[in-house]
Amino acid sequence: MNETIIKRLRSIVGYENVKTDYDEVERYSKDETSSVEPSLPSAVVFVTNAQQVSEVLKVANQHKIPVTPRGAGTGLSGGAIPTKGGIVLSLERMNHILELDLENMVVVVEPGVITDEIQKLAEEHGFFYAGDPASSESSSIGGNVAENAGGVKVLKYGPTAFHVLGLEVVLPTGEIVNFGGKMMKNVMGYDMIRLFIGSEGTLGIITKIILRLIPKPKYSAVLLTPFKDMETAISCVPKVLCESGILPTSIELMDRFSVEISSKFLNESIPQQDADCHLIFEIESLDRESLTRAYISLGEKLQQLGALEVYIADNRHQKMKIWKFRKAIAEGIIAFRPKHCMEDVSVPIKTIPKLIRSTYDIARKNHVEVLNFGHVGDGNVHVTFLKPETMSDELWKKAIHNCLIELYRVTADLNGTVSGEHGIGVKRKDYLDIFLTQVEIETMRKIKQALDPNNILNADKIFPDTSASVRQI
Ligand SMILES: Cc1cc2nc3c(=O)[nH]c(=O)nc-3n(C[C@H](O)[C@H](O)[C@H](O)COP(=O)(O)OP(=O)(O)OC[C@H]3O[C@@H](n4cnc5c(N)ncnc54)[C@H](O)[C@@H]3O)c2cc1C
Repeated sequence: MNETIIKRLRSIVGYENVKTDYDEVERYSKDETSSVEPSLPSAVVFVTNAQQVSEVLKVANQHKIPVTPRGAGTGLSGGAIPTKGGIVLSLERMNHILELDLENMVVVVEPGVITDEIQKLAEEHGFFYAGDPASSESSSIGGNVAENAGGVKVLKYGPTAFHVLGLEVVLPTGEIVNFGGKMMKNVMGYDMIRLFIGSEGTLGIITKIILRLIPKPKYSAVLLTPFKDMETAISCVPKVLCESGILPTSIELMDRFSVEISSKFLNESIPQQDADCHLIFEIESLDRESLTRAYISLGEKLQQLGALEVYIADNRHQKMKIWKFRKAIAEGIIAFRPKHCMEDVSVPIKTIPKLIRSTYDIARKNHVEVLNFGHVGDGNVHVTFLKPETMSDELWKKAIHNCLIELYRVTADLNGTVSGEHGIGVKRKDYLDIFLTQVEIETMRKIKQALDPNNILNADKIFPDTSASVRQI
């Protein structure tokens, strides 16, 4: 990018808000994805309002400069990595909560707000923002919308998309558009909100979000249930959902390996730590009596289905301890096993036992380690392959490629999807054709071409590289 363009960008956002020095831009060359190489941008541009975003995109579009939008950089598919260089457009300073409108039960926010701040503000007023990725303390709401983030409450409340009522978006060509509003129902033409949600920064830059709040459920309990073997544990998930008459907020899985890593990361332990795996259930209720009835009934059902024990946490401290333990698994993997490949496949819940069984076969066959954790209540499992210490980097690359192909084929055979919440990004794009036909991929490509004719916005993401003969990891 030449000096004239840098000068134009500086005239839009201010001199100090365009960084080009290596020390300042290096941090923006990567996200939290382990298996995608970092890539340096020519410049990082910090914006503070939609008008600036529009002006920057007009310059980029005129000169065909690649632009990579970035929230908090916690993504797990390489979406915020500027694989084509150019501009990283950082939304992190657009971090204001613009309006809390309790009578309409909505909150209006800028994209750079950290998700946890929205949850805390809603709770202070007796409300609840139900989007809850495990990264809620570090990821931005704009990134959550762009990825349609899931998390531990999807079973009852759905992913981020279920909570978005309106969006302001700057199109790649610089126009500012608004879709939706504070109303719950809206069938005015195409569902454009859903189109931008989960579009991974390829169709537009999200600059304002209207989120739905719901009244906070008054009482909740968390049940921690160790099982002697994985098969018994995962087979009980569909049975609980179909037969207990209770819709839990969450059903989460931690296998023994995941428990070990989280325990080491936090220096804390949980009951029956050596069990083959643990399930976590959360249930909610409007009054204490019905909550007690529900957790007793669920606990009995779980014991009939083979739980070794049922530990019930119904005070805030105990519940937070269990959730902290669950949420630390991903951080523990990143910290202690940096050479890993964390997957995000999602299958119909009845088929989860088959999926998990196959991961052990795949790992054994390819001489790597594997751990499984995730949101088994909604079918989304974070199968994570780990490089054994003794394996060379070269062998690991080959092994992981084979593991992914095999895992994805099994997932496709089970009518599942390659990603339940982390997205395609750059990490999974060359595997898309295992799940979608050429016509389906082309249908998406046409939407991209219509909105971004010069292909400037996150150009290297989602779509398989047409010239690629070798799949990447
Ligand atoms: C420890 C850990 C736990 C995690 N747990 C979960 C989980 O439970 N559930 C889950 O779904 N994910 C989880 N993630 C993944 C990640 O946190 C989510 O994908 C999150 O939504 C990314 O938000 P971000 O602000 O960090 O986005 P970034 O990583 O900065 O960007 C992600 C994508 O969104 C695009 N983007 C960002 N902001 C905008 C914008 N304003 N407009 C347009 N495009 C934009 C980027 O270009 C990129 O493609 C976890 C990650 C970590 C490290």
